Amino acid sequence: MRTLPALLPILLMTPSLAITPDLAELERMSARFAPVELRVDTAALSAPDQQALAKLIVAAHYIDDLFLTQYWSGNHALWDKLGKDKTPLGKARLRYFWINKGPWSALDEHQAFLAGVPARKPLGANFYPEDMTKQQFEEWVATLSQEQKQEAEGFFTVIRRDGGRLHAVPFSKEYAKDLQRLSKLLHEAAALTTNASLKTFLNLRADAFLSNDYYASDVAWMDLDAPLDITIGPYETYNDELLGYKASYEAYINLRDDAESAKLQFFANHMQDIENNLPMDGKYRNPKIGGSSPIRVVNQIISAGDGAHGVQTAAYNLPNDERVVEQKGSKRVMLKNVQEAKFRTTLVPIARRVLPASAQGDLSFDSFFTHIVAHEMTHGIGPHHANARQEMKELYSAIEEAKADVTGLFMLQYMFDHKLLPGGADAERKLYTSYLASAFRTLRFGLHEAHGKGMALQFNYLREKGAFVTASDGTFAVDFSKIKAAVRDLDHDLLTLEATGDYAGAKAMLDRLGKLTPELESAIGKLRDIPTDIDPDSSHGERASWRTRV
Ligand code: ZN
Repeated sequence: MRTLPALLPILLMTPSLAITPDLAELERMSARFAPVELRVDTAALSAPDQQALAKLIVAAHYIDDLFLTQYWSGNHALWDKLGKDKTPLGKARLRYFWINKGPWSALDEHQAFLAGVPARKPLGANFYPEDMTKQQFEEWVATLSQEQKQEAEGFFTVIRRDGGRLHAVPFSKEYAKDLQRLSKLLHEAAALTTNASLKTFLNLRADAFLSNDYYASDVAWMDLDAPLDITIGPYETYNDELLGYKASYEAYINLRDDAESAKLQFFANHMQDIENNLPMDGKYRNPKIGGSSPIRVVNQIISAGDGAHGVQTAAYNLPNDERVVEQKGSKRVMLKNVQEAKFRTTLVPIARRVLPASAQGDLSFDSFFTHIVAHEMTHGIGPHHANARQEMKELYSAIEEAKADVTGLFMLQYMFDHKLLPGGADAERKLYTSYLASAFRTLRFGLHEAHGKGMALQFNYLREKGAFVTASDGTFAVDFSKIKAAVRDLDHDLLTLEATGDYAGAKAMLDRLGKLTPELESAIGKLRDIPTDIDPDSSHGERASWRTRV
């Protein structure tokens, strides 16, 4: 599962794509993805790992090839055609195709931006016959044995039609050529690296590409603990909008961030202390919080396939196979340099418009990122009233996301106050100012989803309490004499809602505060021309640039 790509930025959409965009329009659409260089220093890798890395980067390019096939049957022919057009319009088309990994614009509800292709991305991508309906699939599945049904609905098969009859084909057969190449590269990388857990994972995953059984390699991925942190395989099912069954191939070739990992461990060691001091009635406290899912902080060297189209992934939680999750849990991977690139290209310009000049110096990536980490950690504490999720139904996610944001602030303030982190006025100004600016980044994506709704709730609550104030020029600032108490009060209210599974209370709070006020709408309206996301791939779809190096 991913955090960011699920957000559909309604406010940032192109109104309509009835006509194929011309050069100016395409450039405007592409400009929503700011070109960035991802910063990562691989110099500290051992020589064998450097050699393994070279193999894995080639493997990532093959994942792009494979994903194009999965996304749409016409993708490879179209990519070839676009690559031959060297006019400015041709290049702009190729670049936007490559950002989206297909002819449909991810930020515009998957509408086509090229002529001669379906007007919208086929719901079932290339996992099913394009003309197959959901009903036809279900009628067919009803005729199958239990085992055949599992195959048909499984992550790792495509459905094809043969003489009018549907049948399931395993990925290992459908994509045999690509997967054999990938398998060979992963075995070669495994032979090079000296890290035992990476060697095991790569060998098992290489075998899985050919056997179509990913279980053992998913388990090995949970145990992976290596400077080269690799995620490669079929994972997310978002591109199967028809039935949500089929997994897309993606790759993240990352470098573990040891300094951040040490910080995480330090936080993990203090979570019981935070729990014991949360601003809520003592009877809701958990005397012994469970072990939380592992979190890794990494820097991305390259991403590919499903992990590199549309809005760039900033964090992911895998695997999705319930059998593995039951046995080993799941692991959260946070891509620090991707977050940093998004911060640089979207949050910094947002802050220039929403914060007063005097606060600009307090915008801090370290504070922003530390708060994201604290958010993830605090999902694991607070009252886990057995039925809170069931009782609060559709409201639970927005309340839980707000709770993680606010409890994250509470936790960091607690650590400042108890000298667990270097605190003081400077650290506090950076934390709350960066949090205020990032509220606008989240709200820009709309309120139809839990993070946006939860953020509107927080913003409006803190605004009412006078912890956020406005200036006559329309900018917003933090009142540092009020913010700490207001955060504490808000945290108390959110934690108590969850402790009591209070649906009516959550509804009243969200109805009153979970919306865009006119002042918020006007502030967000001024951010339209700021990039939505990043484009870290400088190849812009020119395939020769890597193929010649293989
Ligand atoms: Zn969250």
